[in-house]
Amino acid sequence: MYHRAVSRSTLTIIRNYLGRDFTLRTHRRTFSRTSGTLKESTISAKKTNEEWRKTLSPQRYHILREKGTEVRGTGLYNEHNETGVYLCAACHSRLYESSHKFSSGCGWPAFYDSVPGAVNRNLDTSFGRIRTEITCSNCDSHLGHVFQGEGYNYTPADERHCVNSLSLKFERPDGSVDDSEDK
Ligand SMILES: [Zn+2]
Repeated sequence: MYHRAVSRSTLTIIRNYLGRDFTLRTHRRTFSRTSGTLKESTISAKKTNEEWRKTLSPQRYHILREKGTEVRGTGLYNEHNETGVYLCAACHSRLYESSHKFSSGCGWPAFYDSVPGAVNRNLDTSFGRIRTEITCSNCDSHLGHVFQGEGYNYTPADERHCVNSLSLKFERPDGSVDDSEDK
């Protein structure tokens, strides 16, 4: 099958070129580790943008599917320090542990690392800048950008995952999920 023969980065370039309605057709499944067991995300990652539009609030849709950026300092999880796990707001894959979060003062939630394999990196040359976009590896939704070498010496790789709060939901240790920004 053609889509299986090309790399993810190529698919990203093709998708960006063709526009927002191009949907990955490769079969991808994601598993997350919960208390020593693997739990598969229960929300399909294979949706058209019209289907995503029906399940996401307009604000979330703009960030996740149109690569938007929320206004600095306004996000629900910008200054949020509870213990738990941050999920992809679109497909509920587990992206970041609360132990990955740190206070950067940048105005958006900041993480120094992610759950292994949960986040993909893509070259972003929009607005005349070269940046590294981060997306959910399960559903390809936009999360934010990762910045390196900013001098956060207490983070192992000196990296800052700068993530929109609207790209995230928060799962508490009891399994309940904060979906207060859903429609
Ligand atoms: Zn996702």
